[in-house]
Amino acid sequence: MIRSALKRWAALTLVAVSTPALAQLYDGARLIPGDGGPAIESSAFLVESGKITRVGKRGEVTAPTGVPRVDLSGKTVMPNIISTHVHPGFQKGISYGASNYTREVILNDLNLALYYGVGAVMSQGIERGDLLLQMRDEQTAGKLGGARVLVAGRGIGAPNAGPGALAYKGIAYEVTTEDQIRQAVREQAARKVNAIKIWVDDRGGRAPSLSPELSAAAADEAKKHNLRVSAHVYYHRDAVGLAGARVDSFAHLVRDAVMDEPLLVAVIRNRVFVMPNMGGGERTTHTTPPDWWSEPYLVGLLKDTASPEVIERMKGLFAPRDAAVVERVRGIYRNVHQNTRRLNEAGARIILGSDTGLPDHLFGYAEQRELELMASAGMTTMEVIVAATSRGAEYLQLSDTGTLTAGKRADFLVLDANPLDDIRNTRRIARMFVNGVEIDRAALKASLIK
Ligand SMILES: [Zn+2]
Repeated sequence: MIRSALKRWAALTLVAVSTPALAQLYDGARLIPGDGGPAIESSAFLVESGKITRVGKRGEVTAPTGVPRVDLSGKTVMPNIISTHVHPGFQKGISYGASNYTREVILNDLNLALYYGVGAVMSQGIERGDLLLQMRDEQTAGKLGGARVLVAGRGIGAPNAGPGALAYKGIAYEVTTEDQIRQAVREQAARKVNAIKIWVDDRGGRAPSLSPELSAAAADEAKKHNLRVSAHVYYHRDAVGLAGARVDSFAHLVRDAVMDEPLLVAVIRNRVFVMPNMGGGERTTHTTPPDWWSEPYLVGLLKDTASPEVIERMKGLFAPRDAAVVERVRGIYRNVHQNTRRLNEAGARIILGSDTGLPDHLFGYAEQRELELMASAGMTTMEVIVAATSRGAEYLQLSDTGTLTAGKRADFLVLDANPLDDIRNTRRIARMFVNGVEIDRAALKASLIK
């Protein structure tokens, strides 16, 4: 038992940590830069010491003498996916709860993300103690693998208005005064978090919502520490207050209504990043298995990464349920869908976020589903890719990744088909590189806890 755990630990550690090859020319692929610029058909790019140093057309970019050339003809390359709203450390196989919040389970979530092509994630505020911060720092030091993790630390809400489930009990700060919320932000800044998370929701009437004044105080205090504030939001009225409070991002969309024109204008004017988080709700709207459940590449990835018991339970969600409940969740989802569409048409800064890590909302799988849902709400495949790469990096203040352009880290996916034709082609991962080093996906798969 101990020996097998140790063996797995060694595999997990080795999978994504090694020294970048000195130089490599990748030649012949269609290259999607991730910044919204057009794809380069038949590209070539040079990677030196983990960084992209030159990008252009095949034949224009040549390798210096002695540099190996890798033929990627027929493939498409794009930046690794960046997911801005995750909660690692709660699900271990079939079990879900606070007792799973260990190094092993967190690393497993980060490895799962990587297996599905997700190179970086932001944990949004449900974190106990310093474990995740320590793991982030070990990654920075090159001592730990998995998708690169950024940490929002301990989130802040009004009393009883933080995340409600038992697994998350006691994690959020509960504040009622401006002094308290400023103090909470200062404490988190001192712990060197990457962002501040606040919850603004009355939780169906069970609690008071955090007021716009307190949200504004959090945003003001966070700015002093160069930290972005990410706000969980549910109601239209709270979103109006939050846009005015100058928070940096909505960690969800407005769900009780279709956003009106003044709110859209405020979101655009204040340059608020928005995470649609469509997938968690969408899956509850079905009473029979939807078509997307059987999409072969998604099925393949799920079988690679989850046990039959977990898959069976996920499928069990698509069963006849109380008609009033189904009606209600469909209404909420219609609002989310409509608001994603309206925000995109208005030119809002949409980023990929899926509330990954909620029960059976698995790392990597949730992101792959979310991309498809963003496209279903009218975003072009190029817009979805930008949201999931360069704009996510901008939100996370990661200046070294998110595009395939000179000077960035060589963080990229090699796909068997073009995601500009069909966004679901991001599931057809042939190879993945992080910092110029190829991930051993077979070893990664073998190391996963199911
Ligand atoms: Zn969340």
